[in-house]
Amino acid sequence: MHELTLARYLIDLVTESVPELGSKSISQINLRLGQASAMARALHFCFGSVSRGTCCEGAVLNIAEIPLTVHCRHCDGTKTPLGRYSFRCPDCGFPSVKIVTGQEMELISIEVTGVDPTTQPQPLNQPLNILGGHYG
Ligand SMILES: [Zn+2]
Repeated sequence: MHELTLARYLIDLVTESVPELGSKSISQINLRLGQASAMARALHFCFGSVSRGTCCEGAVLNIAEIPLTVHCRHCDGTKTPLGRYSFRCPDCGFPSVKIVTGQEMELISIEVTGVDPTTQPQPLNQPLNILGGHYG
């Protein structure tokens, strides 16, 4: 998925999660982004321009990385590869074909300007597979 598409998707997700916000503006968006997507920097970069004119304009994007884990068929277990772009099992070297975590985006919470924090809407966690498919 392209980072512009991802930014637009994120804004749509925020807008749909908080339809009652109306013209209020969002000050902060907290999300988790899979490390394997390597999109945190690109998303930061394009979010400002994509969000212009939306309720997300001026919002701060807080991105926490979801570490990459893969399933090794050989060891029959979940492993953390040694390198960010390595999809091999760190124990046996078997090239893993299945990513368990690290390619998804999750919207965690949204902070809204001028709204009491205790009454803020809590968006649903909707993990999105942003890469799709399997490696191997
Ligand atoms: Zn292994």
